[in-house]
Order: sequence, then structure tokens, then C-alpha cells
Amino acid sequence: MADIIQLLPDHVANQIAAGEVVQRPASVVKELLENAIDAGATVVKLVIKDAGKTLIQVIDDGIGMSDTDARLCFERHATSKIKSAEDLFNLNSKGFRGEALASIAAIAHVELKTKTEASDIGTQITIEGSKVTSQEATVTPKGTMLSVKNLFYNIPARRNFLKSNPVETRHIIDEFHRVSLAHPHVAFKMIHNGSDVFDLSESNIRQRIVNIFGSKTNEKLVPVSEETEIVKVHGFVHKPSFAKKSRGEQFFFVNDRFIKSSYLHHAVSSAFEGLLKDGTHPGYFLFLDVDPQSIDINIHPTKTEIKFDDEHAIYAMLRATVKHSLGQFSIAPVLDFNKDNGFDTPYEYSKKTPVAPTIEVDRSFNPFKEDHSNSGGKKFKQGHRYTKEMGASWESLYVGLKEEQGSKLDHLPQMEVESDEVTGSLFSDSETQATQITFQIQNKYIVSAIKSGMMVIHQHLAHQRILYEELLKNMTVQEAVSQQLLFPLQFQFSTTQVALLQTIKEQLEHTGFVFSKIEGEQIEVNGVPAGVLESTVPGILEQLLSDLENEVPDTGFSQNDLLAKSLAKSLAIKTGISMEQEAQEHLIHQLFACKEPSVSPDNRPVLVTMEATDFDKKFM
Ligand code: ADP
Ligand code: MG
Repeated sequence: MADIIQLLPDHVANQIAAGEVVQRPASVVKELLENAIDAGATVVKLVIKDAGKTLIQVIDDGIGMSDTDARLCFERHATSKIKSAEDLFNLNSKGFRGEALASIAAIAHVELKTKTEASDIGTQITIEGSKVTSQEATVTPKGTMLSVKNLFYNIPARRNFLKSNPVETRHIIDEFHRVSLAHPHVAFKMIHNGSDVFDLSESNIRQRIVNIFGSKTNEKLVPVSEETEIVKVHGFVHKPSFAKKSRGEQFFFVNDRFIKSSYLHHAVSSAFEGLLKDGTHPGYFLFLDVDPQSIDINIHPTKTEIKFDDEHAIYAMLRATVKHSLGQFSIAPVLDFNKDNGFDTPYEYSKKTPVAPTIEVDRSFNPFKEDHSNSGGKKFKQGHRYTKEMGASWESLYVGLKEEQGSKLDHLPQMEVESDEVTGSLFSDSETQATQITFQIQNKYIVSAIKSGMMVIHQHLAHQRILYEELLKNMTVQEAVSQQLLFPLQFQFSTTQVALLQTIKEQLEHTGFVFSKIEGEQIEVNGVPAGVLESTVPGILEQLLSDLENEVPDTGFSQNDLLAKSLAKSLAIKTGISMEQEAQEHLIHQLFACKEPSVSPDNRPVLVTMEATDFDKKFM
């Protein structure tokens, strides 16, 4: 048989190897930012277009490269950072494999401009699919600019595999956070599609955290600091009261390199034991300094996992240190057996004689009598309307019900019922009248008679379903009524949250929001969906951002879905709110015009029915 084994050509080998280093635009960002740090840069600028799919550019003021190095840096295993295997055990640089640039050059259009301090003129190189297409002298400042265009242009399968822009942007921001947090003394800037996302000046760690996560972060931070023979720890943890439902702000850095470690995470979490509400996670920014010889960072290709020689000792020390910090800043509860605050009387009341509380009851009040001062079907009255006294004379609940119902029908506003077929199938003709009689119980459920017995509807979940379908329709058909605000509302969020909001701006505008500014830490709203109260806007946006942070939607569709769910949750009428009779009916009609009236957007049941035959059994 003839020989069949061949050596793969370099560019093919590079493409295959690239798969390990470059999974997505964010991987390129990480490699380029780290190279800039290794080159001793004091200012690093990252420019992104279309979530990095079109352009990723990193500009630094580091040491630059000579003509020859500029060409050599794209060769596999070309590195200036280690010379022998021993150096691997004494690493102070981020990179050392000499693989990143070779890999990137195999799967993108790359342009490099670089100049060292010593030379007067710089070098410019362009590479496509590992082949140098031009190299010439150029005028450029000291440092390096590397542009990566059209990532995966020659591997369509990989390109198609990329997620939506918000998802890829999110990954890029994560990498940007990690590198810029690890190096607060370096100034970083990030620009996406022409607008500033981050502009971080040289600072200390605390300031860097605040600059990234927003000015409100400062008060949340508790300093941590401890030094032992094997490890030095410093950084911050969040006060437990600020623990979040998302795991977003959890960072370990070992020798200024971001790492993931579920083991160390466990150490920190256990220090928070008993201090966190269920389902919330502690936030932390912890920097560990260890002897480079006592770790192995070589076990993971993208270098986010490392192995410690002395893992157990580090665990114990980390747990104790964080616990100590929480205690020292009196965040952990302090037990004081001599004092029970429960018995303290507020100062102003200490000399007053107590008076028995009185209740005013309107005995002529009829819950079914129409309140003409407030006849809008969509207005909900706050507070409890049924009192004990009314319950006692239960007959009064039914007196005059018939007439009341008759006169009421004349006043009913036009119901917007989109599909009569649906309602028709649930309520028989002879019983449609009956559906006009609804009761609200415990300001939570709406009860209505149906042909086979009775139906109980959860008001909050039902309204969620109605709003969800309405919002989804608005987002896809792109029509929504917006209400212009007289004075724009201004909000401050963290830059990350603002950047996240930027990526869903368009969809949000389809629901009726109008933004005049989404930039830096600022959001300015000058239009809200019709019917939304101004005072509820901050809560709505906060809920939305926390939902977005917790669950990163993959596709345009799931993004709309998440938005609609989140908004529906915020906007839906809450339990505990008393609803006018008309509002109850309106809700039922709207619910049954929905495509899926029986489940909430989160798949909880919206209504239950009870058969009259079930009642029959109870009366036997
Ligand atoms: P590694 O970082 O593992 O050495 P890379 O492929 O990322 O491998 O880079 C190869 C070499 O190119 C580096 O060792 C360094 O000498 C040089 N280099 C890369 N980026 C820069 C930069 N921004 N400034 C100066 N030199 C750089
Ligand atoms: Mg590198």
C-alpha cells in the first residue's frame, strides 16, 4: 500500500489550532488585551464593531515590536515571554504559549501597526488566512495597534455558530472587566459601534471597581486583607445585604490573572453562611498573590483555571479572612443578650398614654354599587374594601344584585374582546350573563361562575399573560403607543447595565419606551408605554436589567420573550389590589382573548376550575 500520511500545511494546522484559542470575539479581546498588558502599556484602548464580528481593535502604548518581531509574532510558538521549560514555573506574564496571534491570523483579516521607542519609523503588516499580504514602513506612535476584522471569514460554520450581538457583547464586556480589574493602574477605554462604553482612568482597585460597576457600588464594598506565608489576599466583598440573584460580580485574581475556581468560591460562600437571603449570591473581588512556583497555570488552554500546590490551606485562609472582614465591619449579626430591641418604645411615644385604636365602618357600603367617580375599566383601587362587619351581614352581599347588574350593563365601557370564539367555548350562551358577575376575593383572586361550576382566576398572573402577549405582538409587529413625558426621567446605572440596555434599545422602543440618552452611566427616558406610571419606571428598568443579567438571551426571539416577560411581570396588577367590578370583567375578557389564557408567561397556572359535581360531593 502506498504511503498515505501527510503533514498538514501550516495554514490548515493553524486553523485547527485556532479552534482551541478562539471560540468567539471575546477570546480575541482577551488575548489582545493581555498582550498589551504584557507589553507594559499604561493606556489600552479597545474598539469593537458589531459585537466584535466586524472589528476588534486594541491600541496600546507598550514597548512595540521591531520589524522582524512584527512578522515573527504571527508564527506558531513565537513568543518573547519564555525561553525554556523552566520559565513556565516562574511566569509573570499573561501569555507564554506564542499561539494567540498565529491562531487569530489564521481565521481573520489582521492588520498590525507597531513601533518601538528606539526606532523612528514603524511597521505595518496585513495578513489574511495566515499569509502576509503586505509589509511596509509606516508612521505610527510608539506601541502597537492590532486590528482583527471579519472573524471566522474563512470558516462559515464557526461564524454562523456565533450568538446574537447582545450575547457576544456581553462576553466581550466580561473579558474587559476581568483584565481591567486585574490592572487598575492601567487606563482602559472601550468603544462599541462608535460610542464610549467604558473610560477608566488609572486608579486603585476600589476606584476601578466603582468606575466599572457604578458609583452606587462604593458603599457596598467591605475591604478584605490578610497576609500569610503562602498567600497574600486583598480586595473587597459585597456587604451581604447587597447580594444579588445573579452571580455576575464574582472575581478571583491570582497573581493578577482572572481565574475560575469553584473550590475557592465555596470558601467565600461559606464565609457568608447565614448572612444571605435564599437564592442570592455574594459578590467579591479578591486578589490572591502566591509564589508563581506554587501554581500551575498550564492545565487549561484558555488559562482560566489553575492548580495550587497548597489548595486546602488557601481555602481555610480565604474563608477565615472573609469571615473576619464581615465581622469587623459589623456586618455579621452581633448578639447582645442584655438587650431586646423588640421592647423599646420610640422616644417620642415614651411619655404618652396609649389609646385603643378605633375603626370607622361605613355600614351602608355596597361593594356592588358602582363608583361613578372612578369608572375607568383599567383603574384599580388600592386597599381593602371588604370589612369583617360586612361579612357578618352576609345577606346584604346579595340584596339588589339583580337590579344592580341590569343597570350596570348600560354603563359598561366597550370591552376590547378580540376573539369571541374563545370566550364562547368556555361560557355557554345561556350563561354569558353569569360571567358578568365576578367576585374578587382577598384582593387576589377573581371568581366567576361558569357552566360547569366555577372558575378562580389569579389576577396578577392573568394580567401578566395579557400584557405578555400584547408586548410580544408590539415587539414583532412593531407598534406601540408611547406616552411622551413632560420632563425626561434620568437614571444612573452601572456602565455595564447601560451597555446591556443599549443592546436591547430597539426592542424596548417597540414597547413604547423612548430613550433620549443611553450612555456611560446615564439613561434618559422621555417616553413610556401608554398606561405606565412614571413612578414605576425605575422599578421596571431595574427588574429588566436584573433579568437580563441573570439570563442571557441567545436569539432575537428569546430576547423579545425575556423582555416581554420581564415587563409583563413589572406592569401587571399586583395581588393585594382591589379591583372594580368592571376591571375584573375586563380582565377576564382580555384573558380569554389571549392565545394561551391558562398559563402565565412563566408557566404557572392562571386559573383553576371547580366542577359543580365536586361541590355536590361535599354536601352529601
Ligand atoms: P504570547 O503572548 O503567548 O507570547 P502571542 O501570540 O499572543 O503569544 O504573541 C506573540 C508575541 O508577540 C509576544 O510574545 C510578544 O513578543 C509579541 N506581541 C504580541 N502583542 C504585542 C503587543 N501588543 N506589544 C508588543 N509585543 C507584542
Ligand atoms: Mg499573548
